Amino acid sequence: MRILAHVCCAPCFTYPHKQLEEAGHDVTGFFYNPNIHPYLEYMTRLKSLEKYVGVKSVDIIYKDVYDIEKYLKGALESQDRCAFCYELRLEETAKTASSSRFDAFTTTLLISPYQKHELLKKTGEKIGDEYGIEFYYEDFRKGYRESREISKGLELYMQKYCGCIFSEKERYLRQKNP
Ligand code: SF4
Repeated sequence: MRILAHVCCAPCFTYPHKQLEEAGHDVTGFFYNPNIHPYLEYMTRLKSLEKYVGVKSVDIIYKDVYDIEKYLKGALESQDRCAFCYELRLEETAKTASSSRFDAFTTTLLISPYQKHELLKKTGEKIGDEYGIEFYYEDFRKGYRESREISKGLELYMQKYCGCIFSEKERYLRQKNP
């Protein structure tokens, strides 16, 4: 299948990229992450992905739109900011996958043991139905440790928090009140 993979960051892309290619799929990455705060962090993650793409010669589509206002408005109005965050990014991926005639779309968020895995799966499937394109599901969490090893080997930047300003705040609060 030709799969458009939403990429949250380079380290999380390493294992799914390898796994999908080994399974015979044709993978293109899709970077769209307006949730990341602050802007310098966003640029650092983008540059890290560019480094990986350069080393691995992988096709990538950058939707380099730092739409932080849209993210913040939706996150603050939502009962569950992560649900909104998943929808925002996966919807954009599905739209691009559908208009560019990919067979399916997926997300590297499925590798993270820190994400709401079942919610991600449900969200991907719902959006896939809406846009008439298959959501490729695989539990990439089995490759989480391997993804960190590949990333260390390539000296990719590894962030200390999920991405948004709220997760950044929680990171420091946890350090203050362990
Ligand atoms: S914690 Fe992560 S998934 Fe949840 S809203 Fe923030 S950036 Fe998005």
